Amino acid sequence: MSMMPGVIDRYREHLPVTDATPAVSLGEGSTPLVRSQSISDSLGCKDLYFKLEGCNPTGSFKDRGMVMAIAKALEAGKKRIICASTGNTSAAAAAYGARYQLETLVLVPAGEIALGKLAQAMAYGARILAVNGSFDDALTAVREIVEIMDIELVNSVNPYRIEGQKTGAFEIVDELGEAPDLLCIPVGNAGNITAYWKGFTEYQSMGKSETTPKMMGFQAAGAAPIVRGEPVLKPETIATAIRIGNPASWEKAEAARDESEGMIDMVEDSEIVDAYLRLAREEGIFCEPASAASVAGLIKLPELGVDLTGKTVVCILTGNGLKDPGTAEKRALVELEYVEPDIDSVMKLLNSGK
Ligand SMILES: *Cc1c(COP(=O)(O)O)cnc(C)c1O
Repeated sequence: MSMMPGVIDRYREHLPVTDATPAVSLGEGSTPLVRSQSISDSLGCKDLYFKLEGCNPTGSFKDRGMVMAIAKALEAGKKRIICASTGNTSAAAAAYGARYQLETLVLVPAGEIALGKLAQAMAYGARILAVNGSFDDALTAVREIVEIMDIELVNSVNPYRIEGQKTGAFEIVDELGEAPDLLCIPVGNAGNITAYWKGFTEYQSMGKSETTPKMMGFQAAGAAPIVRGEPVLKPETIATAIRIGNPASWEKAEAARDESEGMIDMVEDSEIVDAYLRLAREEGIFCEPASAASVAGLIKLPELGVDLTGKTVVCILTGNGLKDPGTAEKRALVELEYVEPDIDSVMKLLNSGK
C-alpha cells in the first residue's frame, strides 16, 4: 500500500464499492492542481489551474477509471481483461492487470500508438494485438469479442471506469473549495467529459459545491465527429489519444455540454502544438499533445466570444509528455551543440554569439 490513499480509499463513500470489493491501488489520483504562471495573464482569467493527470502511476488519468474497473472485475471473479486503446488505456490495463494477476489483452490500431505507451504495455507484459484499422474498428472488435468470451471489457463503456474517473472532479472541488467556472478538457471517446460532469453534479447535489462548471470539450479538427455532427471515418491528428472518429460516449458528452451550458469545439493540430510548447516553455509542464488540446481550446475561447475576465478555469492535462517522445522530437526539436569537454571549448562556444 502506498501512503497516499488511492481513489477507491479516498472516495469510497461516493463509489460503488462494498466490503467484498478488493482494495486495489497503485497510488492513483490526488494529482497536483498547479496554478498558471503565464498563460493565465495573457487571457485575463482570474485563476487558471492545470490538473496534472500525467502524475498518475501510468502517466494518464486512465488509472482513475481502471482501478475501479479492476476492483469490480476481481470482485466478480474475472481472470482476464480486454480493451481497445489509443495507448493509455492499454498502459493502465496492463499495469493493474500485472499487479492483480489478470491476463491482459489489448487491441491497438497498428502503427498509431505513441512509443511510450506501447513500451508500457510491453513492459507490463500485456498481450498486444495490433489491428489493421482505427481505434474505432478495434473497439467494435472488442465489443464483439466480449459477447462470446469470458473476459472483462475495461474500456470506458464499462460504467465503473466512469465512476473512477469522476473522482477528478471531486478533487478539484475539494481543493478549490468550490467548482470552477469553466472546465476545459480534451474529448476523444468522450468518457472523461462524461465522468467529470457526473462528478461535478454529484458533488453539487450533496452540497459540496454551489455551482457546476461549464464543460468546455475540445476535439482535434481532424477527429471532431461531435462538432461536425457525424462520425469521421479516417480520423487524423497529431494528438493520438483523441484520434477517434465515433466516440462511445457521444450522447453523454452532448448531455454534459448542454446541461452545463458549455460547448464542444475543435482545435487545429497547429494550435495543439502551440499550446503544447507554451505549456512546456512558459509553465514548465510537459503534457502529451491530446492534453494540450484543452489549453489550445481555452486560448481560442475569447475569439469564440467567451469572456474569460474574472473566471476561474481548470484545464485537465490528461497525460504525461513522456508518453510521446516522437512528437517532442519532431515539434520541440532543439539542435544539440556538440563540444569538447573542457572549459575553453565550452566558453568559446557560449561566447560565439550563437
Ligand atoms: C484517453 C485520453 C483522452 C481522451 O479521453 P476520452 O475519455 O476518450 O474522451 C485524452 N487525453 C489523453 C492523454 C488520454 O489518454
